[in-house]
Amino acid sequence: MTITEENYQAELAALRTEYADELPKRLREIDTLWQTLENGPWSPEALHKLHLHIHRLAGAGTTFGYAEMSKTARDLEKRLMAWLREPDRPGRPTWEAAKAQMAKLATAVGNGPQLAPGAAAPPPLSPMESRLIYLVEDDLALAEDFRLQLGRFGYAVRVFPSTEGVEAAVAEQRPDAMVLDVVLPEGNLAGTDLLREMRAHLDLGDVPVIFVTARDDFDARLAAIRAGADAYYHKPVDPMFLLDRLEHLTQREADAPFRILIVDDEAALAEHYALVLRQAGMQATSLTEPRQVLEWLAGNDVELLLTDLYMPECSGMELARLIRQDDRYLSLPIVFLSTEQALEQQLKAMSLGGDDFLGKPIEDRHLVTAVTIRARRARELRALMSQDSLTGLLTHARFKERLDAELARGQRKASAVTLALLDIDHFKRVNDEHGHLAGDRVLKTLANLLRRRIRRSDVVARYGGEEFAVIFNDCDEEDALHMLDTIREDFSAIQHGAREGAFQVTFSAGIAAADAGSRVGSLIEQADQNLYRAKDAGRNRIVAGDSTS
Ligand code: GH3
Ligand code: MG
Ligand code: MG
Repeated sequence: MTITEENYQAELAALRTEYADELPKRLREIDTLWQTLENGPWSPEALHKLHLHIHRLAGAGTTFGYAEMSKTARDLEKRLMAWLREPDRPGRPTWEAAKAQMAKLATAVGNGPQLAPGAAAPPPLSPMESRLIYLVEDDLALAEDFRLQLGRFGYAVRVFPSTEGVEAAVAEQRPDAMVLDVVLPEGNLAGTDLLREMRAHLDLGDVPVIFVTARDDFDARLAAIRAGADAYYHKPVDPMFLLDRLEHLTQREADAPFRILIVDDEAALAEHYALVLRQAGMQATSLTEPRQVLEWLAGNDVELLLTDLYMPECSGMELARLIRQDDRYLSLPIVFLSTEQALEQQLKAMSLGGDDFLGKPIEDRHLVTAVTIRARRARELRALMSQDSLTGLLTHARFKERLDAELARGQRKASAVTLALLDIDHFKRVNDEHGHLAGDRVLKTLANLLRRRIRRSDVVARYGGEEFAVIFNDCDEEDALHMLDTIREDFSAIQHGAREGAFQVTFSAGIAAADAGSRVGSLIEQADQNLYRAKDAGRNRIVAGDSTS
């Protein structure tokens, strides 16, 4: 959930105030420790405590407007680290130098926070919504065909028969993607001209733009490239192919928010980071105690862990090692956020299972960028490992794991879980008559249709060659049957292939509802029997219910 700009600024300000209010108390604690060391017998424990305090000032100060204090604290910290390596009281000169730094620290705190002017919020990512496509196409029959076909997949297509009004519409509401013809009533390069004009006047951001045109010559392609097109296709174009491109190009916007866990013993800082990431559209949680981390990881599907390196109870490195001992988190990216500058320490941190290192202080914008890049890469990697390469759906093995987990969850929460197995009808014929590539396209189309039409909480997998599986969560047999039947009807109406030589394909499905004792194997078997009955009864239909009675 993205918070509003005002709320965000207010929360940031509240954190800053909280931090500033706490500083005098911290300085007093630091001073007490200093006095203990200066006047009493030499105490490594007191030095340790002092170092931790100074370390925290170094790490968090800049974020809350105390850059000068942070800088002084960092210098002082280096000195204290050197002292920590020696058993005895340091010599006079270094002691006096440290004392001067202590005084500087107090002055910096006394001067109050200096906020960088316009320390603006990181740009919020666009929230999830149904996808809007602007189609600029003067062939109205074709435009209508695209509109209808894409509509089945949850795309809202707004058609413009010429360049007129397009720019104003984009200015008013940015679409999720644009599909443009090149040749329009205004001229033979009107489409590319329009895009160039729009880019000059408007902030198009990363809205993908696809050209679909009858022109296949070098000049038109060059004009498209120069105008900043993401793709260029020569007519005729199969709407389902176009859909697949749109799915890819608009993926980023549609992605669920990244799930980030932040661990830092400095509570205000941990919450500050969480707030900044949340404002950028991520789901961020902050914890101040390493011992809470395992429990959180077990109950939440965390995609990236951001941890402080130096914490009193358990260091970031120890935490990383601890996490890596659990097979479930072998691929969880761990990023250390720390003032630790020494390269040797950084390398050690990474060899212990941490993946990456970010220096503190880090600017809010940089934090967002750094986390986004790493979380996206982690998500892509994870997807590669568990997704079928043709359709991007869950693989057979992963699907069974998921089904097992969903059945357990359903039983725990006493909510209905329903399974459907789908099999494309006479798919061999599709391959034989239209070629294997056309067959692949059909598989992708069904995958896209299922993905777009089921709810977020449902799971869809490629169960086998031309077989798919859907887990409907919190959904009884009747509702699942109803939902899947509208998908069946829509799928059977899709025209595969370009306008010439288009063909239609159907599927059959079997549905099985889980009961209290349902196991993965028995549920699949029941759905499979129903699928068989659907085929037997003439295909293009769905059979539910207990097939043994
Ligand atoms: P039925 O209605 O009884 O299901 O008939 P069918 O022809 O669909 O069933 P069958 O299981 O005999 O054939 C499935 C075909 O699916 C055979 C196989 O070549 C094809 N197939 C499996 N995986 C792929 C794939 O990834 N791409 C393509 N193009 N074809 C595939
Ligand atoms: Mg089959
Ligand atoms: Mg089949």
